[in-house]
Amino acid sequence: MQNPYENAMMQLDRAVEVQAFPEAFLAQIAVPNRELRISIPVKMDNGETKVFEGYRVEHNNARGPYKGGIRYHYDTDINEVKALAFWMALKCAVANIPMGGGKGGVTVDPKTLSKTELEKLSRGWVRGLADVLGPRKDVPAPDVNTTPEIMSWMTDEFALITGDKTMATFTGKPLDKGGSEGRGIATGLGGFYVFDVLRKKYNVPDGAKVVIQGFGNVGGNAAEVFAKNGYKIIAMSDSKGGVVKDDGIDVKALEDWKKANGTLAGFPGSRTVTNMELLELECDVLIPAALENQITVDNATKIKAKFILELANGPITTEADEILFAKNIPVVPDILANSGGVTVSTFEWEQNLKGEHWSEADVFAKLKEILDRESMVIYEKSIAAKTDIRRAAFIVALERIAKAMGY
Ligand code: NAD
Repeated sequence: MQNPYENAMMQLDRAVEVQAFPEAFLAQIAVPNRELRISIPVKMDNGETKVFEGYRVEHNNARGPYKGGIRYHYDTDINEVKALAFWMALKCAVANIPMGGGKGGVTVDPKTLSKTELEKLSRGWVRGLADVLGPRKDVPAPDVNTTPEIMSWMTDEFALITGDKTMATFTGKPLDKGGSEGRGIATGLGGFYVFDVLRKKYNVPDGAKVVIQGFGNVGGNAAEVFAKNGYKIIAMSDSKGGVVKDDGIDVKALEDWKKANGTLAGFPGSRTVTNMELLELECDVLIPAALENQITVDNATKIKAKFILELANGPITTEADEILFAKNIPVVPDILANSGGVTVSTFEWEQNLKGEHWSEADVFAKLKEILDRESMVIYEKSIAAKTDIRRAAFIVALERIAKAMGY
């Protein structure tokens, strides 16, 4: 599998071929300000102590405190976290929110842990990193396999260690523990707002057929929002595989099916596909919403979608990007498409610092205003620079970060 950090650096090289930046700035933005690895000992339910490896990478804070989620996954390693931290720095600049970029993780399969073990691991991550975290320094959030409940344990542990009761050090918390209205759905909904601006530029029709890879926070919420807005979700998948239903999936019914059966397979009226087959289905819009490196040189030529919205981080390798670009398939890059999550996380941080609680309608209106505006900025940059949307988004982000760094 391709090293995601190498992929991120190839994306950077491609963007700066289109627009030059000062060498000294590029040398700084290509490397994280700081990367931390910690060991987290956890006393397991059987009495044995297991040691897990945890990470925090603080990429760049020129525009504000480091911001970025924490991933729990057995494949997570320092290179993945470094790539994700770099993308976060660009993403916050794309959304024009006052945050820098960071990311965290633990190499663990959380499905093998009991709830007590998961809580001990999460509190251990905070104990290992409390010195570098804080509302004005570094503000983590959920990512793959981390939940609002995990954020509330982390917030509590941070308050116990530091006495900081603002709750603004972690976002994505439960509503009754300092969370923001709308945070759960923010990445999927924000993805829809971005899509709705750009699809008109690329003639994606109303009611188009949509395929979604991933059925977690992002994929599940995106499916609901797209369906509610009249789009036909014809296929969805989770880590075990996918289902296709040409006349459209009732997303709520599929959710209930998964809850009852533990799998999407067997959903009434559907046929089963592998995750790789799902990506190659005939459709108008393909939404990768699971993990990185899903569309590579091996399958890019077989992609039949007419438009791709990257809600996962890094789902397309750079070589595959070149192929899709040559095939005239527009790709809305992760750093724009999924920036709704960090935008509402920033709203949560702001509410915590001010002691406010905004209504859901206010949150969605503010989110839409930001994403509508920044989607247009990036689209116009792509036209002016005669390049694809990813390179345009990189250029806009790099310009903003460079300015904040005094270049
Ligand atoms: P999640 O843990 O809630 O869900 C992940 C989903 O992907 C699950 O349905 C899982 O079964 C599925 N999956 C895992 N491996 C897969 C595979 N090989 N093929 C197909 N499906 C697979 O995670 P999430 O929060 O929904 O995050 C998904 C992606 O979106 C990640 O790339 C994450 O970094 C990105 N993202 C998340 C947020 C957020 O607010 N949660 C914000 C921005 C970006």
